[in-house]
Amino acid sequence: MATWTYAKLRDDSWGARIAPVPTPAPRAGERVTLEKRSGERKDETLGELVFIAPDGAFALFRVARVAPAARGAGAGGRPTRRGYECDECCDRVIPGSRCWETGMTH
Ligand SMILES: [Zn+2]
Repeated sequence: MATWTYAKLRDDSWGARIAPVPTPAPRAGERVTLEKRSGERKDETLGELVFIAPDGAFALFRVARVAPAARGAGAGGRPTRRGYECDECCDRVIPGSRCWETGMTH
């Protein structure tokens, strides 16, 4: 069974690492349970995909912070608006746009 763990990203923020990559592959916006090195577990929302190994051995995602307004919005509890709240610039952003705070891609 695939396990989610925390992983440091290149910009020194914390991301989510899944190994191996399940089928279908996880996507931004999904709720997952991440395991810390201490064994403690925490529910997080996936942000954008950072890296996926060509052989499917593992994948890295950013960890998104969900704005309170997005929680439980729409029928079935799925957010009706695209995007997520960026941890760096605190704007509600769409994946693929450029962050004015870090210059990185959201
Ligand atoms: Zn940003």
